[in-house]
Amino acid sequence: MKKRTVLLLIGFAIFLNIASNPIFANENFSQVKEKIIDTRSPNIVIEDNKENHFPFSLKPLPYDTSALEPYIDKKTMEIHHSKHVKAYVDNLNKALETYPKYHDWSLEKLLYNLDDLPKDIRQTVKNNAGGVFNHNFFFDILKKDVEIYDSNLITKINEKFGSIENFKTEFKNAALSVFGSGWVWLVSDKDGNISIEKSANQDNLISENLFPIIAIDVWEHAYYLLYQNRRNEYIDNFFNVINWDKAVENYEKHTTTNYNK
Ligand code: MN
Repeated sequence: MKKRTVLLLIGFAIFLNIASNPIFANENFSQVKEKIIDTRSPNIVIEDNKENHFPFSLKPLPYDTSALEPYIDKKTMEIHHSKHVKAYVDNLNKALETYPKYHDWSLEKLLYNLDDLPKDIRQTVKNNAGGVFNHNFFFDILKKDVEIYDSNLITKINEKFGSIENFKTEFKNAALSVFGSGWVWLVSDKDGNISIEKSANQDNLISENLFPIIAIDVWEHAYYLLYQNRRNEYIDNFFNVINWDKAVENYEKHTTTNYNK
């Protein structure tokens, strides 16, 4: 064998050795990645729906579009769901299309780990994954004629705000004070402490380990057809369509669910 061939073979052997080293093997890269995610988020409380990944689809409404009449009208529900939310779904899929690395990431995982996404899609994913997550949550928290009953959540609301009426007043004031488009949330931290929080655009608070219990969409598209500029009236009527069963369920879940396990 010529000296050059021997050197080439040695070089190739070294290359193979390096390539099979755990640090360089692709599979192990992803293990390292998972570990980073785990250590960064020890208190995650959001349930991770791993089945829900690219290509995302429009989640059907859990009720008929007229189910919340007269508080939220059929036409608003139709357009809100089939046009606005559909656009978030489509734009999210479009952004992720050429990034197969993230095709098995759930909505929650994307939102929780935005900083790990490439810069050129980060904001688009934030806006649109946020749009999908927020609306799925919002539509689920709406139902007509649900009575408020004694539960850990109601006890907590009374403790924190003094009464349900005071809670409504504070929640309404927060919703009125969102400038432009955004959301108001009743959230819980991992210890069960509740608070009212605001978010702009389609942002939410799950990456801050705050678990959503109730949310109101105060984008104009959520109320303009029926209420025009009367956000005040829309918020008052929102209190008639809070699904308290679901809110109680959300609060019970916050300490028992774990994301990304
Ligand atoms: Mn909306």
